[in-house]
Amino acid sequence: MRRFSQVSASTLTTMHCGGRIASMFEPETKEQLRELITEFDNFIMLGGGSNVIFEDALISKPVIRLGKAFEFVTRNRDEVLCGAALPTSKLLHYCEEHGLSGLEFLAWIPGTVGGALFMNAGTAERGIMDAVIDIEVMDKGGTRCIPKSDLPYGYRTGGFRPDTVIIAARFALKSVPKDQVSADIEAFKEKKRNQPGGYNCGSVFKNPPLSSAGLLIEQAGLKGYTIGGASVSQAHANFIINDGTASTSDILDLIRTIKHEVRKKFGIELIEEVRIIG
Ligand SMILES: Cc1cc2nc3c(=O)[nH]c(=O)nc-3n(C[C@H](O)[C@H](O)[C@H](O)COP(=O)(O)OP(=O)(O)OC[C@H]3O[C@@H](n4cnc5c(N)ncnc54)[C@H](O)[C@@H]3O)c2cc1C
Repeated sequence: MRRFSQVSASTLTTMHCGGRIASMFEPETKEQLRELITEFDNFIMLGGGSNVIFEDALISKPVIRLGKAFEFVTRNRDEVLCGAALPTSKLLHYCEEHGLSGLEFLAWIPGTVGGALFMNAGTAERGIMDAVIDIEVMDKGGTRCIPKSDLPYGYRTGGFRPDTVIIAARFALKSVPKDQVSADIEAFKEKKRNQPGGYNCGSVFKNPPLSSAGLLIEQAGLKGYTIGGASVSQAHANFIINDGTASTSDILDLIRTIKHEVRKKFGIELIEEVRIIG
């Protein structure tokens, strides 16, 4: 198991901000993971860091990131079993190579399978949980397999308790010609061409029912609004871009301003999709 101390949070997240993490662990076996969960009452699970922002202050809670041994992927006919540390891009590539359909909407969603399941990542219409059969998890009570039907998943939530570590998941997919999977992946990528690049965490806010957070922010006149090194993207108003100098405090101030302006203009309370950790 690899152990790190005094790690800069900015190197672990796509938003590239935040303070120092006192200690981080990368277990390579379930036994090592079990020891960590038993030892620590409170810990932070980290996947690819594409939906989290760490506070600027020292993060004293231990951070656990699953090691390479949790990156496996195998198939049995139309079922795919993969480890939670597997990058979603690798899972999608595997599905494309094997002509397996059902997860194409994950195109250009960064991060790991574990993070995607925790967030139920996807589009407005679909989330990764839709394709799940069951999920292997670990908590202080031990390891168990949860059928999807036991999880209260929904829009941008997999329905997991915060102290649950996702280890692996089984997906029910459909065999189709490889070209069809490739074409569907390309179609999803095409829809995302307006998304900005640079340091960001994807959509900052969830879409309110029957509305679009990006549109509300744009109509509140906030495109390009800047605090310190953090700006509302000109390309897509639900994205905050860090120019490389933003502190988490800049980003949180900008989030507060956006919520205030949208509440004032439309009476709608935006809810963060990004998870602020400290
Ligand atoms: C450019 C860009 C585009 C994006 N587009 C989309 C999009 O189209 N749709 C969408 O839904 N999201 C999108 N996102 C957000 C993000 O990519 C997804 O939420 C992603 O699935 C998060 O995965 P991660 O591994 O990075 O998780 P992290 O950000 O590391 O963690 C997210 C949450 O999951 C928990 N977690 C992570 N791993 C585990 C585990 N093994 N067990 C238990 N809990 C765990 C963490 O504690 C945290 O609460 C985008 C982000 C970026 C930067």
